[in-house]
Amino acid sequence: MATFVGIDLGTTNSAVAYRNAYGRPEVIANREGQNLTPSVVYFGTDPPAVGQEAKEWARLGNEEIASFFKPHMGNPLFQLQFHGKSYSATELSTLVLRRLKEDAEARLGDSVDRAVITVPAYFADPQRKATIEAGTAAGFQVLRIINEPTAAALAYGLQKTGVDETVLIYDLGGGTFDVTVARITPAEIVILATAGDHDLGGKNWDDRIATFLSERFAAETGFDPLDDPVALNEVLVRSEQAKWTLSERSATRITLQLGTERRTYELARTEFEAMTFPLMERTRRLTEEALGEAGLSWPRLDGVLLVGGSTRMPMVRGYVSQMAGKPPRAGVNVDEVVALGAAIQAALEVGQTIADAVPRFTLGSAGPGTVPAAAQPAGRRVTDVMSHSLGTIAVSPDGSAYVNDIVIRRNTPIPARDTKSYLHQTHGGANTRLEVYLTQGESPTPLDCTILGKYVFEGIEPTGAEVAIDVGLSYDANGVVQVQALQRDTGRRLPMQVEPVPDDLSWLGRPPEPATAAARPELIRVLLLMDVSASMTGQPLVEAQTAAREFLTRCDFTTMEVGLISFSTMVALQSPATSNVRRLHAAVHRLEAEGSTNLTDALEMARGQLVAGDRKRYIVILTDGYPDAPESAVEQAQAARRDGIDIVAIGTGEADREYLRRLASSEQASIFARSGELVQTFGHIARVIAEGGRALRVIS
Ligand code: AMP
Repeated sequence: MATFVGIDLGTTNSAVAYRNAYGRPEVIANREGQNLTPSVVYFGTDPPAVGQEAKEWARLGNEEIASFFKPHMGNPLFQLQFHGKSYSATELSTLVLRRLKEDAEARLGDSVDRAVITVPAYFADPQRKATIEAGTAAGFQVLRIINEPTAAALAYGLQKTGVDETVLIYDLGGGTFDVTVARITPAEIVILATAGDHDLGGKNWDDRIATFLSERFAAETGFDPLDDPVALNEVLVRSEQAKWTLSERSATRITLQLGTERRTYELARTEFEAMTFPLMERTRRLTEEALGEAGLSWPRLDGVLLVGGSTRMPMVRGYVSQMAGKPPRAGVNVDEVVALGAAIQAALEVGQTIADAVPRFTLGSAGPGTVPAAAQPAGRRVTDVMSHSLGTIAVSPDGSAYVNDIVIRRNTPIPARDTKSYLHQTHGGANTRLEVYLTQGESPTPLDCTILGKYVFEGIEPTGAEVAIDVGLSYDANGVVQVQALQRDTGRRLPMQVEPVPDDLSWLGRPPEPATAAARPELIRVLLLMDVSASMTGQPLVEAQTAAREFLTRCDFTTMEVGLISFSTMVALQSPATSNVRRLHAAVHRLEAEGSTNLTDALEMARGQLVAGDRKRYIVILTDGYPDAPESAVEQAQAARRDGIDIVAIGTGEADREYLRRLASSEQASIFARSGELVQTFGHIARVIAEGGRALRVIS
């Protein structure tokens, strides 16, 4: 019967693990009997050699070598040529995965058809998709892509039954650095935050030694190895070996034989540590960023796990101990823990149990011969996050620039979904397509982000001069991006094409064309006035808060700003008009009910906030009864309407329909919502306002 595995597809080395006969994750040795297979391909043989053999050819100075390609997964510009054929990083990874599959099958005597494959948490969408593609091409059904640190947390958590703790996973591999904060409880593993750099790893330490050696060699011989690819390869190989030695000893000797020149250099560990200290500091910045995102400080962390080959360097252990104020957790096998975690996830995916003691792959106190404790029937639930925010390119509210408009913030648990609404000018049917550029990144400047793709939606029906298009963006459980769009009034899903991102994106750095700015819908400012008098206590307030959240979800914050005023005996400006959704959600969360109903002052405050300008302005009132001074509230409402502000009055509970009409701008804008209808009503009002509010102004 075919079986499944977990694969750590590493930059330098890869490893495979499976669920053994005792229900425990176990690494599968390759055909050479090693647990790690170098992620290296040699094209001088037919078929190409993969793994240890390829690495040997590389050591001998052969050039037909592909290594270190994983960071380039999904990059169409990365192509290596061998014997007249070009290979992408995805194709090279396929060769490695195929080799891992063959070796695992030979060792297990069984076919292996399904796999969970790990990726650095910092991998963006194209790299994740490329990993799935490579897995599929190698003959696997890819059960899931999971983040390497999450896999490490899973394997570590297996050993930690019955505890509840928060750990930081510091993963420094050959080419990438990931740092992740995870909460491990008996029931689940929740990733709280992750950060990283896909261009920081052991290779940077090698490069530092290589530069040091090359400079000295060039000064002494006049020949600079940096100018010659073969010599540089030799220097890099020697540099990595020197680095390994310095993990064991306090000094090393490096002999370089380049051409006819031969030189030997001494390098002390202290010197090596001094020259690479800036690299350690880069890891600190990212580590503290992840901690900050998780809302934690060092004293609140229970421990640090070191993962990845580069954490063998004593300087890493020392630096982390100092940063954390405590030594890292011992006993984690930095090379195997990720593959073991992937195997655990694979078992979960296929609904099999995992025994919660790991005798051979000790991750703590359990030693060989440990009697397995009870299996975890359903396994721990894993909640992961993405380290990149997902957004679209939008025109800034003032029309002066293109901006990265974040839709799903980084460190939001995945799968995650959100909708962004666009008002589309149909030009009487001449404009039936909407182009959406997706971004991954944190910077407000689009060019500082990864532009994931150009998604073109066709077939927009010209049901009006402007139609609303809801574009749904999501991260699936693999962290892969999904996009779809719906024309709101027809309810029809629009066909989508993915088009190549144009090479020239310089227009993103310039102000949008005036035509684009002119076509933009008017800016809209809304103040929500929420009744929080004593009669709202309990369920009515909860429902009102849910309705307010729904309202915020339906707003288009590229063209809208929303503010929140609460009124009871006191009137409070909970948030001025803003497009900062998080701030608004926090304001809604804060609301508490008490006292009477001072609508008059609330309306006056709202008028003050909605100063005249070129914006469309709205006041949306929610009340559940008569205010303290009904007539003066109506006078305030009339004054606001004279200022050109539209008023929507939504009543619930004891509110009087006739009185609502006197507050509102129109018949349609006075709405009575029974308990249970409020959320839908608010959602509807937000949509109508976002679309320009035509329906609200039929009768003025
Ligand atoms: P990984 O991607 O996790 O397999 O890590 C590979 C990186 O770990 C490479 O840069 C290796 O040079 C580095 N590495 C492996 N063993 C050691 C060691 N003993 N000392 C220093 N670096 C090491």
